[in-house]
Amino acid sequence: MTRQRQILLELIDKSGKHLDAETLFQLAREQDPKLNRVTVYRTLKMLKQGGLVDELDLMHLGGDQHYYETRMKQEHAHVICLRCGKVEEFFGEPLQRLRRQVEQNLGFDVLIARTEIGGYCANCQTQRAREMAEAAAESEPNAGEHIQPRQRKG
Ligand SMILES: [Zn+2]
Ligand SMILES: [Zn+2]
Repeated sequence: MTRQRQILLELIDKSGKHLDAETLFQLAREQDPKLNRVTVYRTLKMLKQGGLVDELDLMHLGGDQHYYETRMKQEHAHVICLRCGKVEEFFGEPLQRLRRQVEQNLGFDVLIARTEIGGYCANCQTQRAREMAEAAAESEPNAGEHIQPRQRKG
């Protein structure tokens, strides 16, 4: 395995996060300043083709941006907050069950299953409720009621 493959694989494996190609490039360059962007992107593609790394789009949260994670991890679903971009991982039996049911019911040989769930995290639900309450208050006809009357010119 070439040095750049080793560096990238370690970065992806150790981070435990979902890093995009540009972030990976920046991190890899800290370890080897000679690495260039083209090499890093090409290496990521090779790792993906070799089945060592999984490429995700995470509900297109970052437009066309793709994210990378190790394939060594147990299968999991990605739960993505569409407001703040937080990504949580859900591990559990329902995913294995879904896979088995697809195999049984459709006679399909499942090689890869990717589950993404989008919504609002607990924190963003609170924020959104506050924002909506504020917006509603502003659009009310009596909203100006509490504003101090302008001082009359003497
Ligand atoms: Zn959120
Ligand atoms: Zn993940």
